[in-house]
Amino acid sequence: MAVWLKKGADAEAVKSADRQVRDTVEQLLADIEQRGDTAVRELSVRFDKLERDDYRLSDAEIQACLDQLSQRDLDDIQFAQTQVRNFAQHQRDSMKDIEVETLPGVVLGHKNVPVAAAGCYVPGGKYPLLASAHMSVITAKVAGVPRVITCAPPYQGKPAPAIVAAQHLAGADAIYCLGGIQAIGAMAIGTASISAVDMLVGPGNAFVAEAKRQLFGRVGIDLFAGPTETLVIADETVDGELCATDLLGQAEHGPDSPAILLTTSEALARDTLAEVERLLKILPTAEIARRAWETYGQVIVAESDAEMVSIADEIASEHVQVMTRDPNYFLDNMRNYGALFLGARTNVAYGDKVIGTNHTLPTKRAARYTGGLWVGKFLKTCTYQRVLTDEASTLVGEYCSRLCALEGFAGHGEQANVRVRRYGHKDVPY
Ligand code: NAD
Repeated sequence: MAVWLKKGADAEAVKSADRQVRDTVEQLLADIEQRGDTAVRELSVRFDKLERDDYRLSDAEIQACLDQLSQRDLDDIQFAQTQVRNFAQHQRDSMKDIEVETLPGVVLGHKNVPVAAAGCYVPGGKYPLLASAHMSVITAKVAGVPRVITCAPPYQGKPAPAIVAAQHLAGADAIYCLGGIQAIGAMAIGTASISAVDMLVGPGNAFVAEAKRQLFGRVGIDLFAGPTETLVIADETVDGELCATDLLGQAEHGPDSPAILLTTSEALARDTLAEVERLLKILPTAEIARRAWETYGQVIVAESDAEMVSIADEIASEHVQVMTRDPNYFLDNMRNYGALFLGARTNVAYGDKVIGTNHTLPTKRAARYTGGLWVGKFLKTCTYQRVLTDEASTLVGEYCSRLCALEGFAGHGEQANVRVRRYGHKDVPY
């Protein structure tokens, strides 16, 4: 049986924070619904201290942002974007349209059709998270979405040059300096100045994730991608410094970001606890990371790799870093995770920033039912069918007629019967 050397916040405290966020989001979305751009402007002033006539950035503003970055910055952004684009393109290529003859004369198929318009949220309240622009805008473009708009909040009072550069280089069709609920609400509901999209994607804080959740149905959403979580699975083949670095590297996202160590080695667990304290004294973002670690951090000592798989599947963490003797065991046996980072040579920061897999990933146990953002999320798999011969229409029609009778659906039945009479020249038995 596993033992907890450090426990996280209790479930009731988490639920009450969730309830407050839910109520705020509901009120503010209703306001955007009623008052459109006026509400969006007021919320932007209230939460982000930014007032503009038009929240869309002009070409001159975009160019000014690009000009503020060095050539090295631009090259680095483009390197990351190339990796994300390449992997997304491979994933797109793996999604084939199909057409098959399932019975003589019966042809069924599906086509992967991109949505017409996507809204990509790029978070930027605490850090200018430019990587999220690659993850959503490029992926939408590779999927073939014709209109891709993107919003990010101001950073220190103005558009963040690095985010704007990434949004622009990723190929966004329009860039808005808007954050939080007002950005999500404007893109989904539509206002006089922003036409509504069909699909909302991108990560964000609890308000952003909850706004997307509440708007689902009215628009599509990629997934519930809220405050970052990380789970480090490790054994005695690594040391406390590596584990503590990987825990705090993700805890620095925000005070509500859980970081959990799961290990079969009590010695490693104790070494990691000590290393966390050492690193918290020197990490420049320690203030946020400490709050996250003290509130949500956990250290769990399990008896075996099999027990670690079962606990990890129950946690269903967004990121799972595996540093054990046989990382592939976890690839083969785990079911619930947003992304796996296998072996000590890679880590979550590589995935977040540059390696090419998508960093928009499920949180709050959504990994039980979805993976992360990818081209497939922008594509609708739409089916079609053809019946090529009179014989095929008659064969299917007779089965259909009897099955409709079982359900009591006379109108459906008649759709079959009329074809059996016309193409099969038969009286319908029912
Ligand atoms: P953000 O852009 O998500 O949110 C900033 C906005 O929140 C502001 O523009 C403001 O409008 C709004 N806001 C702030 N306080 C508010 C309040 N009290 N009421 C209403 N609205 C309010 O940026 P952030 O806050 O830095 O958060 C980024 C988040 O994205 C982090 O939690 C990070 O962990 C998460 N993230 C998740 C993933 C994922 O894939 N799950 C990936 C990257 C980042």
